[in-house]
Amino acid sequence: MTGSEALERFLHTDPGDVGCDEAMAVLHIFAELVAAGADTKPEYRGVAAHLRACGPCGDDFDGLLAAITNEHP
Ligand SMILES: [Zn+2]
Repeated sequence: MTGSEALERFLHTDPGDVGCDEAMAVLHIFAELVAAGADTKPEYRGVAAHLRACGPCGDDFDGLLAAITNEHP
């Protein structure tokens, strides 16, 4: 990529975004918290930021949340 593309990407990435690997590592914990209506802790802010920014991870989260919600109506 060119330098300007790298800059574009940098500018559009949330500085708190933890990235795919870290989001996937805690996705089930985060989904349980959200499903339980618990306040998500500040340390998960970067995960939430990533789920908003990353389509595939956001979809995974939606599916997981739906599965948890269905298990525990
Ligand atoms: Zn991702």
